[in-house]
Amino acid sequence: MSSPTPSWFRTRRGRALLAAGLGGLVVVPVAVNSLSPAGAANPVSAAGIKISVAGPATVTASAAYTVTVTGDSRVCGVMEGTTNQIDKKKPYRLTFSPQNLKAGTNKLSIAAIGCSDTNSFPVYGTATKTLTVPVHVGEYSRWVAPASSDAGQRKVRLKVSTAKSGVSAKLLRGTTTVKSLGRKTGKSATYSVSPKGLKAGTYTLAVTSGGKTVKLRTTITNGWAPMLSPFPRCNTLTWNYDAKGEPARAAGIEKDLRGAFSRVATVTGLKFKQVKSGGTIEVNWGGSDRFPDGGSDAAGVGGSTVSGGRAISGALTLNSASTWVGMPGFGHDAGNFPARGGLILHELGHVLGLNHVTNKKALMYPVSSNGSPSTLTAYEKSGLKLLYPAASC
Ligand SMILES: [Zn+2]
Repeated sequence: MSSPTPSWFRTRRGRALLAAGLGGLVVVPVAVNSLSPAGAANPVSAAGIKISVAGPATVTASAAYTVTVTGDSRVCGVMEGTTNQIDKKKPYRLTFSPQNLKAGTNKLSIAAIGCSDTNSFPVYGTATKTLTVPVHVGEYSRWVAPASSDAGQRKVRLKVSTAKSGVSAKLLRGTTTVKSLGRKTGKSATYSVSPKGLKAGTYTLAVTSGGKTVKLRTTITNGWAPMLSPFPRCNTLTWNYDAKGEPARAAGIEKDLRGAFSRVATVTGLKFKQVKSGGTIEVNWGGSDRFPDGGSDAAGVGGSTVSGGRAISGALTLNSASTWVGMPGFGHDAGNFPARGGLILHELGHVLGLNHVTNKKALMYPVSSNGSPSTLTAYEKSGLKLLYPAASC
């Protein structure tokens, strides 16, 4: 009773997450004062306004800039067009990460805006500021998953462009270099390096060009792999079960569904709430349209849809022709085959962002057979805890 369970929503490597961490930057005040008269649609009174921007001239990790506006009491905020930042609280602060800009020179357009809460903020004056980004990291491996079924995830990958020719990258554990990724000439570079011999844990990718370094956090996983982006950590996730198409042998499966959500909640602290319909995660049944090979097809599929780097909805669909769904609970049968709780948790793992792995002892191994786990193992627990880190919500 082998049941391959492909991820229905094929994983695509998401955009790199933003770097955390602040570099030690020297703050050099930069005065900018170029006014442009406001357009006819805006209240016109730019005369006398001064906008100055203080902060480092070079962005290497993430840098905050303080914008000061004087000369017009109607101004109560600033807006930056390139990165769509807006701040309406004095002192106005704009924060730039090198990932949000491009390598080399970036011309930022900063506007002093009025207090309107509509989308058309009155603009009372504008200024520009030039920022140099020595190292731009377009993509990098936030997660390196040596056990992933996806070969691309088994490597440390990095895509860099720089303002000056020449770039080097290395992987550090704490402050110790554990692997050099190499030095390259030119203004762009890609790296793809095996993490062989490195233990699971959190590392830093340090990318240097022109004497400036950008540091990014990356994690080497132990037996689990990420698939899609996780849901926001602090929201209560609703789910509903649509029993339409439930085969007679699956009687009582709703109890096991509740058991699966409850097990994940225990591990992650995520809050789930069952609703009658319209849940963020829908659990339902698929017939021959979804599973054309009937009982020999996958026993279920799970996945999510992602917007803006976050999962926004999920679906877990069980195959109504599957015999597996007739085996209640989270244990094993006399032949040591896992009960359907294992199937539900595997698909729920996909919904929450876990990918398939090559590790047969893990629940996210794509084929279940005698001796396979029927509940979350240490691998998925570790993965879910890292995808959904405890936070003060
Ligand atoms: Zn699967």
